[in-house]
Amino acid sequence: MLTRLAISTHEEVYRVEDRESGLRGFIALHSTRLGPAAGGLRMRTYEGDDAALEDVLNLSRGMSYKNAAAGLPLGGGKAVILGDPDHAKTPALLRAMGRAINRLQGRYWTAEDMGMSPEDMAELSRETRFVAGLNSGTHASGDPSPVTARGVLGAMRAGAAQLWGTQNLSGRHVAVQGLGHVGWHLCHLLHESGAKLSVADMNPAHVASTVREFGATMVDPRSIHAVDADIFAPCAIGGVLNSRSIPEIRARMVCGAANNQLASPEDAERLRARDILYLPDYVANGGGIVNVAAEILRIAPRAPWVDERLDAMQARMAHILARASGEGVSPAMIADRLVEEQLLQVAV
Ligand code: NAD
Repeated sequence: MLTRLAISTHEEVYRVEDRESGLRGFIALHSTRLGPAAGGLRMRTYEGDDAALEDVLNLSRGMSYKNAAAGLPLGGGKAVILGDPDHAKTPALLRAMGRAINRLQGRYWTAEDMGMSPEDMAELSRETRFVAGLNSGTHASGDPSPVTARGVLGAMRAGAAQLWGTQNLSGRHVAVQGLGHVGWHLCHLLHESGAKLSVADMNPAHVASTVREFGATMVDPRSIHAVDADIFAPCAIGGVLNSRSIPEIRARMVCGAANNQLASPEDAERLRARDILYLPDYVANGGGIVNVAAEILRIAPRAPWVDERLDAMQARMAHILARASGEGVSPAMIADRLVEEQLLQVAV
């Protein structure tokens, strides 16, 4: 059921299969140098095993970078299940995945990701204790989105200090793409900070609520990236910074919660060439994993610990931006380099 695959870029990779429940999936541990590999469980339809394997390898590597950048004693891991979460997800399938995770004896900790809910995490927890993102229990961390939004706001303040010499966001105009869990909370925080908002979402109800609650201006989702704002905040989907969108961006800074905002690594350089300050997404959106980490690490009381980590993340972003400006390279390059140095410094 758990078959180890030899993949040189990762410490451990497993194919997971369970005939009885129909489970097919993968678990990848990219690195445990800083601590147990942590990262969510994703369920979605893939074109096939190769596509699912490629996804889990990329995502688990990304988690090593995100966890390290957030200053957490956690490595990077991820798990995927092949199948439509709306039709193929059953308690038996989730429990089979829970048993597979349990066999790794805590070298991998899972949590909620695309296609999963807190209820699904509860189902997994019937088979393994190596699961976070629960809604109930002594250390349950619940919805990470408000903490993610706080982290993004802190990153924006670091960016504002670099660009305009002040962390104050009052009077700044921010164009927010995506008003879901994180985007809505971010709008709330920005509104409280005195920022002016332009917003877009595919869901009219989400737009209506931010217009009503925060006096935001509605923008067509196709042109939110091109608004003449100070900051563009992608909080919806990945790949929004690409060769077509970058020439149209009018903001001086890009900082948001979405994962994998750059369509390709070259896009970081495209942004720099246009003098647009791009704040690396995995550093800006690490608040969510900080929230989950408090559950994994059984931190109590959690609030001061989370606050301290968010402050440290903002300081790290300020350091990245200053170094990038000093060396004349993109912040994305410096962020990666810092993590790679950090991983090398840890004895294996
Ligand atoms: P969500 O699903 O709650 O919200 C996403 C919103 O984006 C939805 O309202 C959706 O209608 C909208 N949307 C989708 N496509 C759009 C488009 N083309 N233009 C405008 N709006 C569009 O998701 P979320 O939890 O708020 O996460 C947002 C992003 O942040 C994702 O990329 C996610 O991976 C990333 N992220 C989230 C967290 C977290 O704590 N939730 C943590 C780290 C990273």
